[in-house]
Amino acid sequence: MRVFKFGGASVKDAAGVKNLTEIVRQQVNKDILIVVSAMGKTTNALELVISDYLNNSADLKRDLEVVRTYHQTIISELFEDKTHSVYTQFERDYKALLEFLEINTSGDYDFVYDQIIGFGELFSTRIVSAFLEASGLDNTWLDVRQYIKTNASYRRAAVDWQVTKRLVTPLSVNGHILVTQGFLGSNANGFTTTLGREGSDYSAAILAGCLQAESVTIWKDVPGVLNADPRYFEGAQLLNALSYNEAIELAFYGASVIHPKTLQPLQNNTIPLYVKSFLNPEQEGTKIAADLKMEPEVPCFILKQNQILISLSTLDFSYIVEENISDIFKILHLFKMKVDLIQNSAISFSVCIDDMYNNIEDVIQHLSVKFKVEYIKNVTLFTVRHYTADAISSVEQGKSILLKQRNQHTLQIVTK
Ligand code: ADP
Ligand code: ASP
Ligand code: MG
Repeated sequence: MRVFKFGGASVKDAAGVKNLTEIVRQQVNKDILIVVSAMGKTTNALELVISDYLNNSADLKRDLEVVRTYHQTIISELFEDKTHSVYTQFERDYKALLEFLEINTSGDYDFVYDQIIGFGELFSTRIVSAFLEASGLDNTWLDVRQYIKTNASYRRAAVDWQVTKRLVTPLSVNGHILVTQGFLGSNANGFTTTLGREGSDYSAAILAGCLQAESVTIWKDVPGVLNADPRYFEGAQLLNALSYNEAIELAFYGASVIHPKTLQPLQNNTIPLYVKSFLNPEQEGTKIAADLKMEPEVPCFILKQNQILISLSTLDFSYIVEENISDIFKILHLFKMKVDLIQNSAISFSVCIDDMYNNIEDVIQHLSVKFKVEYIKNVTLFTVRHYTADAISSVEQGKSILLKQRNQHTLQIVTK
């Protein structure tokens, strides 16, 4: 069995769903598990719905309507037959969303978030599955929440591998197309959980690992993994081959083409990962596997925006030692900060962090009890893997550099 993952961009409109269908049709071996994200920017649109709902905003109706109309338009462009069951299926799912809003009494943001956000993937997979079927590609729609089991950490759930493996393994004997959701899981109480934003790549890897799949292909709007994000760097080059370790490093530093958690289940099971273009499916793309040498060997550029640079020193100018560092990390961990760079000297300690869950004010408050805290919001972190003198000067040019750090393979620069 192979696992294909189609992200939001690949199914952002009716043409995208048709394109996905053609890609699947071209496959000689149809023993494929297809993992699909929410369509286009639906997850962002549902985040608005969630904040309207929890803030009792008058915009709730309008923002819900945006989500509904968007899906209805795609459905009506795909299915001429207005009596097709996909129409009633969508209305049923949409009604379930309204019902949740009606009956929910919890004010727990993370819990409510996961119960609402998951509808994006439920809508998209119903539509994709129905369209494949209508196009002569028999398939079975699966509710991934019955397979991927997690703990109850809403919005950042951790997989319960033992239970997940037991539930997923029987799917491997299926022998035909399966369609399911990325991003979602469920906890022991049956509530929807999510694996973190952009987590559908990871879903594909979890399922592939449990199935001992032959390969995973993630279909993207780029030709494969490039040596830089083409949105920000001109002349980005395709990397034909990468080792798992190199791909992990790139994803870890923020190359957002692959979710950082994706590689581990694949590496553990030696399952190759292909990153291919859904616009040019016949092209080879990038192959990631064990022991592959990076090809071509070029510097790789990674940019992370909206970072916060925090600099700390002790209130009495004493040294920053193990005990202080441990206090700092306890606080960063408590507020779920993602630390992207650390630099310390005798009396100061700097971290560049990603405030994924909007907790920075709390962090600063807690740190200020023991430290003198200075921070700059909205800084950019550049990482260059396999740097050369030319590569360094190209990123440094014209920027005011707040912090710089390098080791054998990696150079990092924080700029404003
Ligand atoms: P999905 O549709 O699966 O959610 P994403 O939008 O998350 O896909 O990922 C694809 C995007 O990742 C590309 O459009 C590109 O802008 C960005 N990207 C960032 N870094 C890289 C890189 N090194 N190589 C290719 N694409 C990259
Ligand atoms: N739909 C989710 C998101 O936008 C998951 C994903 O697309 O990977 O974050
Ligand atoms: Mg995405």
